[in-house]
Amino acid sequence: MSKVLINVANLVKHFTLATSNPFVRDKPVVRAVDGVSFTVSEGETLGLVGESGCGKSTVGRLILNLLPASSGAVEFDGHDILSMDSAGMRSVRKDLQIIFQDPHASLNPRMTVEEIILEPLYAQGHKRTPELRAYAAELLEMVGLPARFRNRHPHQFSGGQRQRIGIARAIAPKPKLVVCDEAVSALDVSVQAQVINLMQDLKAKMGMSYLFIGHDLAVVRHISDRIAVMYLGRIVEIARCDDLFSRPLHPYTQALMAAIPVAHPRLRHKRDRVRGELPSPLSPPKGCHFHPRCPFAQDICRSEAPQLRQMGDEHQASCHFAEDLPEKATAAQ
Ligand code: SF4
Repeated sequence: MSKVLINVANLVKHFTLATSNPFVRDKPVVRAVDGVSFTVSEGETLGLVGESGCGKSTVGRLILNLLPASSGAVEFDGHDILSMDSAGMRSVRKDLQIIFQDPHASLNPRMTVEEIILEPLYAQGHKRTPELRAYAAELLEMVGLPARFRNRHPHQFSGGQRQRIGIARAIAPKPKLVVCDEAVSALDVSVQAQVINLMQDLKAKMGMSYLFIGHDLAVVRHISDRIAVMYLGRIVEIARCDDLFSRPLHPYTQALMAAIPVAHPRLRHKRDRVRGELPSPLSPPKGCHFHPRCPFAQDICRSEAPQLRQMGDEHQASCHFAEDLPEKATAAQ
């Protein structure tokens, strides 16, 4: 069994909103992340999936210490990340990198591609040497771009090529874990597939782990070994990828799967999107957060929050009726 690389325990991030009304004693609180726990092992890809606003990108930023957490613990490769100051973080940053969603906004337009790719190494104190420049050229070729492009600027590339540059920058320090925050969401479908294939190849070559954050379950499935499904700041189901798809236990996971587009016209009528809107994290519903949108909700769901329970080998779900729902969901189709 592979060694656990990152252990996230009961991670919480609440944002207290400012209000101009001096008579409001209890300021509104956004519960963006509300007790999230998971691990990622060496060489593993964990997919973190959920609708926009569910808190998944906030989790990514918390574990990189780009945002201070309200409470919880993040242990990465023996380091207590949440208690580290900026000097301490600099020493682990080379092992913990991020690929952002928007390849245009995340690349400095004034820098050349070579400078962008080598930026994390300069931050570690490396000097600009011919060897380092040759390494930048090698990285460009690894991500499928010609080395002669190294003196170009970001605006001279397409969206897919810019994301390849972002990937080259992330892998330059040979990290142990890369957080991919909606890394392919801004790309066309055909380019998404190319970039995902590239990321899988690089992972195999370099033995990295990924935390792959996305809103599209079909895309996340292609790259993940395990998938954690997030809803309104909490993980509602986590399982190995094949187990999740053959035996989804939470109604929200079932709804996300039902929303995956299918090419066959006869199957289309069975597909439906998750009904209703994601409630505001300012005032999440009592009991099970999903109950206003759940077709199987009972009285207990409106008053008691279900806990994440073990439902099989490496499979956990938080639903009062997780044991019975797969049959009900099949009957409802
Ligand atoms: Fe639906 Fe109740 Fe399960 Fe929540 S606990 S997902 S409301 S059946």
